[in-house]
Amino acid sequence: MAEDIGVIGAGLGGLSAAIHLAVRGKDVTVFEKNSSVGGKASELQMDGFRFDTGPSLLTMPFVLEQLYDAADASAEERVELVPVDPICRYFYPDGTVLDASAHEETFRAQVRAMAPDDADAVTRFLDYSQRIYELTSDIFLFHSLTDLKALLSWKNVGILLRLPQIDPFRTVHARTTSFFRDPRIVQLFDRYATYNGSNPYAAPATLNIIPYVEYRLGGYYVRGGMYALVRSLESIARRLGVRFRFDARVEGIAVAGGKVTGLRIDGGHEPFDTVVSNADAVFTMTRLLDDGSPRALRRTRRYERLEPSCSGLVFLWGVRGQNSRLAHHNIFFSDDYAEEFDDIFTRRVPPRDPTVYVSITSHADPSHAPEGHENWFVLVNMPYVTDENRDAGIPEVRAAVLRRLRHAGLDIEGDIVCEETVTPADLEQRYNANRGSIYGISSNSRNAAFLRPRNALRSPKGLYLCGGAAHPGGGVPLVLLSGKLAAEAVR
Ligand SMILES: Cc1cc2nc3c(=O)[nH]c(=O)nc-3n(C[C@H](O)[C@H](O)[C@H](O)COP(=O)(O)OP(=O)(O)OC[C@H]3O[C@@H](n4cnc5c(N)ncnc54)[C@H](O)[C@@H]3O)c2cc1C
Repeated sequence: MAEDIGVIGAGLGGLSAAIHLAVRGKDVTVFEKNSSVGGKASELQMDGFRFDTGPSLLTMPFVLEQLYDAADASAEERVELVPVDPICRYFYPDGTVLDASAHEETFRAQVRAMAPDDADAVTRFLDYSQRIYELTSDIFLFHSLTDLKALLSWKNVGILLRLPQIDPFRTVHARTTSFFRDPRIVQLFDRYATYNGSNPYAAPATLNIIPYVEYRLGGYYVRGGMYALVRSLESIARRLGVRFRFDARVEGIAVAGGKVTGLRIDGGHEPFDTVVSNADAVFTMTRLLDDGSPRALRRTRRYERLEPSCSGLVFLWGVRGQNSRLAHHNIFFSDDYAEEFDDIFTRRVPPRDPTVYVSITSHADPSHAPEGHENWFVLVNMPYVTDENRDAGIPEVRAAVLRRLRHAGLDIEGDIVCEETVTPADLEQRYNANRGSIYGISSNSRNAAFLRPRNALRSPKGLYLCGGAAHPGGGVPLVLLSGKLAAEAVR
């Protein structure tokens, strides 16, 4: 007989877990506090514009393909992945513009034109980045760290003995400066630490794995926007028999005798002996599981010590006019990157001079904006929410964003025809993201990968975790993997 499994949350990790469980013949019900699927990967329609409110770039496409294959998805059920080139257009404060091409030779030529001494280092750096991926991906991404047998295989023990090659003892920034001389190229490669919400001046250089993932494994646009991917996973899950209950906020996970017994919803009790939580792992362990016992208190303290990733402030702007100077993904760098990260991670205040990310899908999908207009998704990294900074400084950041764009020759303020803002506090409140973090736990310390909550817990029995704050971490491909690992861990 099929076994009942309750999944808390219909974010990408929860959808992946539900699909993998249903493929294994389990009877799955997903409880989602909001009225639609996707979590942080949501969508907004406004005045004829369509926006993704969360992720915009898909990497490691094979993770999605594996999920589709596992579910035996038809061609119609799969989204179309479109390679983006350039992967990103970089605008520097000194007026230089650099296209980071997906084609390494072209990328090197671009770097050569701007920083001749650094061109050859691009290939050396990507080789070094690839080496980290080859040494670590199997153990840290594709397996659950609870899988002791896999962890202690000769191959993995061999990898752990080659620890210096995965570069955990220096910071991302220390390592990029050892490859590149031009501070602008250093800034470009330092930026990748933010892909999991970390600080390049603190995070271990192991995170230099990310440029390999982007440049050599590719960066993709999902035709129709990222929400098309969310819809595709929802419909596959439904085809496999997964049930969805929306506006169903789980108030707690019921436990008796060290085992999960069900979920508390709307004052009632839904019996389950297996629960996969896609709600933020720290939120799950501190707020859904807290029974007030001394043991729960100790556990809460332990989870609260995990440093959240940075948060983000999103402006969704319908913009009149079409800017041929902009690519699909654009970065407008700040004057002083170190100062910006000091604001975000040390002072925990909104950055006074933020780096600005702008993504426009209406270039690839013209139906996303009325004719003669563009849909701008604008993102600034922000500190995670604290009692002192909650919703502080939003108008100031907006002004700084517009200043930065003006500095690059884009005076668009008068052309914003409609606007919506998603603040760090919104992320916290809408999705129960721990302190509004975008990616879950930061990787600002050497042992962060080991401290990240596991997909299967020793206690209580029957509770499994997936999503950005659980192993292997945040970002679309990793949360899809987390769902797979959690489902595999369910016995
Ligand atoms: C602005 C922004 C930009 C990003 N850009 C990128 C990008 O370009 N590329 C990339 O790869 N990643 C990006 N990310 C990260 C990526 O979006 C996330 O890592 C991923 O979507 C998180 O998925 P998740 O499985 O952790 O679930 P979440 O999205 O956190 O969803 C969890 C779900 O659980 C629900 N829930 C929580 N508590 C309860 C409860 N008590 N009861 C019922 N339901 C509950 C929530 O409502 C939510 O739907 C971005 C994120 C943001 C916010």
